[in-house]
Amino acid sequence: MSNKIVGIDLGTTNSLLSIVEGGEPTVIPSAEGDYLFPSVVGFSKTGERLVGAVAKRQAISNPERTVISIKRFMGTDHKVRIDDKEYTPQEISAMVLQKIKADAEAYLGFTVEKAVITVPAYFNDSERQATKDAGTIAGLEVVRIINEPTASSMAYGFDKLDSTENILVWDLGGGTFDVSILEIGGGVFEVKATAGNMRLGGDDWDQRIMDWLVDEFKKAHGIDLRTDRVAMQRIKEAAENAKIQLSFETTTKINLPFIAADASGPKHLDLELSRGRFQELTADLIEKTAEPAMRAMEDSGLGIHDINRVILVGGSTRMPAVQDKVRVLFGKEPCREIDPDKVVAMGAGIQGAILAGEVKDIVLLDVTSLSLGIETVGGVFTKLIERNTQIPCSKSRIFTTAADGQTVVEVHVLQGERELASHNKSLGRFELRNIPPAPRGVPQIEVTFEIDANGIVNVSAKDLATGNRQKITIQSPTNLSQDEIDRMVKEAAIYAEEDAKRREESQTRNKANIEIDTAERTLRELAERIPLEQQRKLRDCIDRLRMSLQTYDTEKIRQDTKSLTDTMFAISTDAYLSTGTGKVAGQEKGGIELTGVSSEEPSEEDLFGWFQK
Ligand code: ADP
Ligand code: MG
Repeated sequence: MSNKIVGIDLGTTNSLLSIVEGGEPTVIPSAEGDYLFPSVVGFSKTGERLVGAVAKRQAISNPERTVISIKRFMGTDHKVRIDDKEYTPQEISAMVLQKIKADAEAYLGFTVEKAVITVPAYFNDSERQATKDAGTIAGLEVVRIINEPTASSMAYGFDKLDSTENILVWDLGGGTFDVSILEIGGGVFEVKATAGNMRLGGDDWDQRIMDWLVDEFKKAHGIDLRTDRVAMQRIKEAAENAKIQLSFETTTKINLPFIAADASGPKHLDLELSRGRFQELTADLIEKTAEPAMRAMEDSGLGIHDINRVILVGGSTRMPAVQDKVRVLFGKEPCREIDPDKVVAMGAGIQGAILAGEVKDIVLLDVTSLSLGIETVGGVFTKLIERNTQIPCSKSRIFTTAADGQTVVEVHVLQGERELASHNKSLGRFELRNIPPAPRGVPQIEVTFEIDANGIVNVSAKDLATGNRQKITIQSPTNLSQDEIDRMVKEAAIYAEEDAKRREESQTRNKANIEIDTAERTLRELAERIPLEQQRKLRDCIDRLRMSLQTYDTEKIRQDTKSLTDTMFAISTDAYLSTGTGKVAGQEKGGIELTGVSSEEPSEEDLFGWFQK
């Protein structure tokens, strides 16, 4: 037990946890020893639940039962179906959070109970609420939800600046791009504007390399790899690795032996990609970053020369072309002293320390990203809170009836910038009844909007004559009720124990299954090159491992996996050496991101909600 409040960056691709120790934010490693926790959940065929690196690693042999990028679905009614059970995005995210919590506790030696969790600045109310619920389900008290760009600015310590400065945060992650402009001075962080593209991120750069690889391979061999899922998984992993290499090197080799086969024998993919060619292939993606950046500039009312600093956040900002684009757009060298992977989590950790009372004197102010209001006569949208208003805030306005003798009014709450209610996003509605009958225009109904520090909206309507009052906390139909949350918390707690017991066992089983797959592939593809004697030996190893998988004897599975791996390695090295490349088959073992989450994306309206900090 500790009063510490940790910070968690719950990312689309990766999540991280940070805690302030001795005044400095530290990022806590996972049980696997990496500070990045892949935001991936897998369900094995035997019912085990796998989270993080283990889940990412088994994705290759288990794509239909692996969930990635669940953050895209937060706050929507999307469900993940595995066998006969359905999971909400909150539950899947809770599994990621639970794993992070458990690993951090093991590392720190005390129970982690309270957390600050970050969300993108454009997350709307239901997305924020869903994130909070995910924390609750995972057994965390979510003390505060804060915006990622605010966290990044805190990590850079810009609260200690002598003068007021305008900071632009440029966050390019795995699947999303966010730009935020903050005014910081005297310990106050004010978000002036935000914009972004929810469908632009490192994955798009990977996809371009994948397309190029597949096209080149087709040109050379006449085989279309797109239909071969296993091959595409290997290509995806190789593409991401190549991209990462090209951030440091000017050329990279992509080598995928035995990627396909035809009558003439096995085919290998062996290509070289230069940084120049890669940048040509992705030039339009870089261009796409300019539009949201300029939109945020416009909304902030600032000129390029008013921006004092630009911070780079997110793994994809390691690409030199991204840094060049920022230099050209803003005419200055961007800040990238803090690891772009860790900066958000570190800021969340600092915010946690502030809320725990360990650090004082910093106030956080955020703004709404969309206007909020209600529907009035004729379907007109009447704003109460203008976009970019600082939160927390509260605004009231008096409305009246439209018809004689009207005793009921419906308060329809919306967010957006359009004139007509139907063009904006509906957040919820409620009725205020029992208004004393009177001629139209006489009753006075006071409508109040309140946004708290977490960006959660409360709307109330009060009949000033009778004092009757009705209110709602904005919850989209996709939000969870307290009962549902309670149930999920219980379920999660049960699973936490089981998971700990099963983790080791499932890792071993997964590894065994992957090795069997690889061995069988090797047998299929290298059949003509492996002496019969060795083929039989390999089959024996496979059979023995299959048998021990049925016994659930973890130690035996481990031993038999090892002898299979050793046998296979010896055989495939021999076989491959005879082709002269010196590489071994079965390189598809690494983790690959593929997903069972394939249904429709959130609609365009969902992209930019009003928000807070
Ligand atoms: P998110 O915030 O969406 O969880 P991250 O900030 O963790 O994402 O960024 C993940 C993305 O960063 C991935 O697409 C990954 O390939 C990319 N990435 C990580 N390191 C590098 C690098 N050195 N060069 C280019 N891209 C990188
Ligand atoms: Mg991120």
